[in-house]
Amino acid sequence: MTQSFYPPVRTLMGPGPSDVSPRVLAALSRPTIGHLDPEFVRMMDEVKELLQYSFKTSNPLTLPVSAPGSAGMEACFVNLVEPGDKVVVCQNGVFGGRMAENVSRFGGQVIPIEDEWGKPVDVDKVKAAFAEHDNVKALAFVHAETSTGVRSDAAELCAVAKENGALVIMDAVTSLGGIEVDVDGWGVDAVYSGTQKCLSCPPGISPISFSQQAVDVVRQRRSAVPSWFLDKNLVMGYWGEGAKRTYHHTAPVNSLYALHESLVILKEEGLENAWTRHHNHHLALKSGIEAMGLSFLVDEAHRLPQLNTVQIPDGVDEARVRSKLLNNYGLEIGAGLGSLAGKVWRIGLMGHSCRIPNVLLCLNALENVLIAEGVELNRGAAAAAASANLS
Ligand SMILES: *Cc1c(COP(=O)(O)O)cnc(C)c1O
Repeated sequence: MTQSFYPPVRTLMGPGPSDVSPRVLAALSRPTIGHLDPEFVRMMDEVKELLQYSFKTSNPLTLPVSAPGSAGMEACFVNLVEPGDKVVVCQNGVFGGRMAENVSRFGGQVIPIEDEWGKPVDVDKVKAAFAEHDNVKALAFVHAETSTGVRSDAAELCAVAKENGALVIMDAVTSLGGIEVDVDGWGVDAVYSGTQKCLSCPPGISPISFSQQAVDVVRQRRSAVPSWFLDKNLVMGYWGEGAKRTYHHTAPVNSLYALHESLVILKEEGLENAWTRHHNHHLALKSGIEAMGLSFLVDEAHRLPQLNTVQIPDGVDEARVRSKLLNNYGLEIGAGLGSLAGKVWRIGLMGHSCRIPNVLLCLNALENVLIAEGVELNRGAAAAAASANLS
């Protein structure tokens, strides 16, 4: 007989999912109620307010898409891009490439801006692209590139798009809750995130927000949105302002309890305090990483605190290191993606994973494994350096 599944105990310090707080897991296991139950609807209104708080927006069209971050990405492009539309797409890692793929699948014309992996989007190249092309409908970029650990300058990129009358589509999957995201202040028109990065929920939900201008663009489309499920005209009837909550699809009731709880936790801590925690714990991790003689892929000025891309020392079997961390320490860190495969590890300090015990566990475990792999290191130096930084 197949038995019940009990997952092993892990500490998740990769590129997501991150550790889920016991409070969120408890919320997930509460009794399922109907998705049109007035009590559920009341909770949904709170989820919306809490998402508005987290995104720093007053957009009425702010809601959790019932599918992972990739579906939030698709929701933005499928609603806003029509055949023939020109979209400037910034690519400096895996996820920018996926944005371009979305634009072309919906018949749009991609104007690509390419930057080296590990570097932020070059604002001057974006300005040049707008100077060269007229009637650009939107600028799309990834705020926090999880594949490289880079933060791009969202405020400046938005300003360039606004000066040129273009919409802004921004990926905030890894940034939301970890570093500042200011949807209204920057003028972002369509933004999507994910639950399993710095919000520390189980994966499978994608918070999104559309500005009034983006909503108007969706309402004035020449053609029907080619996706039924992600058509915001239809979803607005379920989640929209003053909507009668008619049936669109069955909301993932328990997953939304979890999202509600994680957003309550974020609000209790305070957004700014959460950003500061990510920053401080990143600094502690960084001292330990550097004490082991390891270095970062990304220049200090553009590093994401929640995603630390560490260069693998020569001669080290990186996959064996990760499997020893997992098997002997219950610790998951991430491998490099695409052109960075085999070159970097990605150490996440996201949401509930971003805690002092995790910083120390990760440094001690990595140091022990590297010593066992023959790397000459001063045992205990990494945690000592981090501890000095923490106190
Ligand atoms: C994880 C991630 C996604 C995709 O989210 P899924 O939930 O895996 O679909 C998109 N963009 C970025 C920047 C991410 O880190």
